[in-house]
Amino acid sequence: MLFRQLYDQESSTYTYLLADSKSHRALLVDTVLEQVERDFKLLQELNLTLSFCVETHIHADHITGTNQLQSKTGCLSVVPAQAHSACADRHLKDGEVLTLGNISLKAIATPGHTDGHHAYLVNRDRVLTGDALFIRGCGRTDFQSGDAGTLYDSVTQKLFTLPGATFVYPGHDYHGLTVSTIEEERQWNPRFKGSDRNAFIEFMNALDLPNPRKIMEAVPANEHCGRVVSALER
Ligand code: FE
Repeated sequence: MLFRQLYDQESSTYTYLLADSKSHRALLVDTVLEQVERDFKLLQELNLTLSFCVETHIHADHITGTNQLQSKTGCLSVVPAQAHSACADRHLKDGEVLTLGNISLKAIATPGHTDGHHAYLVNRDRVLTGDALFIRGCGRTDFQSGDAGTLYDSVTQKLFTLPGATFVYPGHDYHGLTVSTIEEERQWNPRFKGSDRNAFIEFMNALDLPNPRKIMEAVPANEHCGRVVSALER
């Protein structure tokens, strides 16, 4: 399997490129509109055909590149079953597996950052955690039907119960960190380490963060696979 971690500096977003080396078919997880040319060029250079654009959730901080990549490549869009998407070709349910050659992507419902959020376990040795779990942090829970208690349960009951050696690849990083493991996060993630459910909820609810700059355009666009929609369509 080919595996690449790509970064968008403006939104601090990681996009993941996974490809089956035999069939040269690829999938991208959490693309960013401003990086579509970068991703398309890389696909061409590596001689890959894009089969799927997969989302971990409906993002509020950036617009997905899915719609543009669909026009360029004819790929299918895949979103969590609970995500509010008006355009997806496929809705994955909790536990469902998306297969592409020698790649298996198993959906793990991990709500809390948003109500329809999935982490994806890749070939059982690495997990794309989206905005549920960051390296030494986690996604915020104060909009898009986010809920701190639900996120606590998702992380502690669904992600932290994976084998300790599972690599953790997050949806964002704001400190230059790229990869961790489940064991490392169980031990050192300050949001969860030594914090019970109530303390976590209290901490998350007191964060008082400003809204992402692009939330008003990003959420409706992402509900349409990244197509910028007029106010009438929302
Ligand atoms: Fe997010």
